[in-house]
Amino acid sequence: MLNTDKLIPPKGIYKYWFTLSKNVYVSNLSQGALLLYNTVNGQSFESSYIPFIEIVKDIHKPENLGIIGLKPSIEEDQQCWATLQHCIEKKIGLLINVEEGKSKPINLLPILSLQKDIDKFTISGEQDLIGHNIMSYLTELNIYINTDCEQSCPLCTNYHKQVNSCFKGATSTSLSLKLVETILNQASNSSTKNINILGGNIFRYSLLHELLALTLKYKYEYHFWINHKNFDEETYQKIASLNNHTDIIVSFPLGKGSIESVAKICLGNDRNTFQFFIETEEQYNYVSELVETFPGIKYHVHPIYNGTNIKFFEKNIFLTREDILSDTISMRKIFCNQKLNSNNFGSLTVLPDASIHANLNSKSIGDINKDSLLDCVYAELVQNTAWRKVRNFEPCNRCSYQYLCPSPSNYETVIGKLNLCNVNA
Ligand code: SF4
Ligand code: SF4
Repeated sequence: MLNTDKLIPPKGIYKYWFTLSKNVYVSNLSQGALLLYNTVNGQSFESSYIPFIEIVKDIHKPENLGIIGLKPSIEEDQQCWATLQHCIEKKIGLLINVEEGKSKPINLLPILSLQKDIDKFTISGEQDLIGHNIMSYLTELNIYINTDCEQSCPLCTNYHKQVNSCFKGATSTSLSLKLVETILNQASNSSTKNINILGGNIFRYSLLHELLALTLKYKYEYHFWINHKNFDEETYQKIASLNNHTDIIVSFPLGKGSIESVAKICLGNDRNTFQFFIETEEQYNYVSELVETFPGIKYHVHPIYNGTNIKFFEKNIFLTREDILSDTISMRKIFCNQKLNSNNFGSLTVLPDASIHANLNSKSIGDINKDSLLDCVYAELVQNTAWRKVRNFEPCNRCSYQYLCPSPSNYETVIGKLNLCNVNA
């Protein structure tokens, strides 16, 4: 128990107590500039004024219990005083008059403490994983059932490295139905709700009907991904009749069949989603006009890096300060960004050659012929090929927005630039 009598300051030494709101996230204190961000009202404040940074550092010293005394002379440092006032206006800082004889208040500031801090697993090893239901971390599976496709999209080998997409292989390979069932069966011990079925052209999978029968046996939300170039109404209707989702990829150049005719067939079923892959503003404008002619169409637009459209990314995708701060970011989200990659965490992908990946830009962490999904979840927690890749690298680790920014995505990997922003160009 804390003896608060000892916290009564000598008479007259302090005029104010100063502290930060419990809702405030403080960026890395070892940098020359500081960002204070109110995670409830979205207000932020940046300062590189050294005396102010020292005050914030003092607040965080364990012996100060989250609050410090300010001497009357603080008001003479006009820049520091103005900075403090600015913080107070934004509900970031709190100034409290010292009442003589009363003990120093305490303000327990938020600290990162994820109950099941996954870093601990990697330090203490397998023993610590026993008793933790690590299969509960698995929330999504992508199963590539084949590599066959007769189309020749110029970016076939690029799309799936950036977003969920079909891709064809140099040789014809497919995953046996037995292995697909093994995966579905093992995933029933996890938190998996969504199963994405991808190829190649999945409509060419020789055991598609048997696979559809499995979707009745194992209850998940199944998403069947098909490029519009491979769309075939009869097969689509079979998938849709079993209440499965269909995700229709629209990549450029468009296929010979009209995208409008595919849209007409799919419209009205809210389990169908169009996934538009765009590389230019012209393609974006085309998609905007198309979706206007089909009110109610469900769709997502994904930018695709094609090796020559970095200007398109710089203009439309790279983050600005305003983008980062446009929505209020919760403390929970910021803490998660420090530990987990929200783009990758919880997802595994099985390829037709039976290899298992936590991300298709990362090395394989298993082989479904001999490794279970549990083995792979464990391997990923220990090896961290993707699930816990956070912004702890240059230049993000020198940036005040380090953990306000979204987790690193595939775009950083494919473009070969670790910060897709205009903040630290
Ligand atoms: S339709 Fe898909 S798998 Fe076929 S070539 Fe195009 S991107 Fe590759
Ligand atoms: S440098 Fe990194 S952390 Fe900073 S704004 Fe850019 S992407 Fe975000």
